[in-house]
Amino acid sequence: MSELSSEAVRLRDVSHRYATRLALSNLNLHVPAGGLFGLLGPNGSGKTTLFRILSTLLRPSEGEALVFGHSTAHAPAAVRARLGVVFQQPALDDELTVEENLRIHGTLYGLSARDLSERLDDLLPRFGLAERRQEKPPVLSGGLRRRVDLVRGLLHRPALLLLDEPTTGLDPAARYAFWQVLDQLRTTEALTLIVATHLMDEAERCDEVAILDTGTLVTQGSPNALKQDLGTEAVWLTPADSPQRLAEQIRTLTGLPAQNLGTLVHVPHPEAPSLLSRLYDTCGALIQSATVRAPTLEDVFLAKTGQTYSAEPAPSPTS
Ligand code: ADP
Repeated sequence: MSELSSEAVRLRDVSHRYATRLALSNLNLHVPAGGLFGLLGPNGSGKTTLFRILSTLLRPSEGEALVFGHSTAHAPAAVRARLGVVFQQPALDDELTVEENLRIHGTLYGLSARDLSERLDDLLPRFGLAERRQEKPPVLSGGLRRRVDLVRGLLHRPALLLLDEPTTGLDPAARYAFWQVLDQLRTTEALTLIVATHLMDEAERCDEVAILDTGTLVTQGSPNALKQDLGTEAVWLTPADSPQRLAEQIRTLTGLPAQNLGTLVHVPHPEAPSLLSRLYDTCGALIQSATVRAPTLEDVFLAKTGQTYSAEPAPSPTS
């Protein structure tokens, strides 16, 4: 489906509340059309809620969500026509073959039998499923079942595909293979992919990423740009006691812009390794251990929230 809008998604002040629990809080976000966009956040940060809003299953308590310029609340049919979704839970009927599952779904989306056959002949071989048409989901590996879900989401040629934690439950080899499929889609299709994940290494693979924490936007940008905001290289120190005290000592004694981030002290420097002996000479008694490394997305999360990134939920914003 060709689109004039260069914007796949626009959120304006979107909040969502389940009873007393605030799942999304005043979220403003824009996802450019084309490419692979990551929605990264710990479990419970609001990713699934946002996907339910984008897929028109849930009306936001406040604010507006647009998909290619169409409001999810006021033009849900226009949104659904442009959208494919791969949910966290497999959406296949175990009693039906792969082909029957896909044909039923395609028919629900209004594809003719002929169009459906063409789509299946095109998509199934590309995802390594050509020989599996007549098999039922329970005999397929977890990775193959996820690919069938992916084909299901792509049948009606959506302009936007949402994937909610698509590699949950897959072993590392299947995860790797699934991401290769996504990379292939990214380069061959005129499609915007949004992947929700709590895994940093998956977010690293995206063109752009929005980081969520307790329903709020922490930051948005390309993984490289977000990391480079913290400098190219840095010394990360574990203090013997207080990170505040160590950071202050370093600033006073060396003039370097040391900053305490969570339980660590961060000292950005273009030649970080050569800085180590100077730091030990001046503040050695306050340092328990030190590492030198380029910033990671974990560091970005830490710098922006003051909290260590953990895949587990942060405390609820209101409950
Ligand atoms: P994520 O997908 O990032 O794990 P969710 O959107 O599932 O996050 O959840 C965001 C917050 O909303 C969490 O605190 C979660 O417990 C809460 N939540 C999600 N679904 C419901 C629901 N149906 N009823 C009440 N609270 C919910």
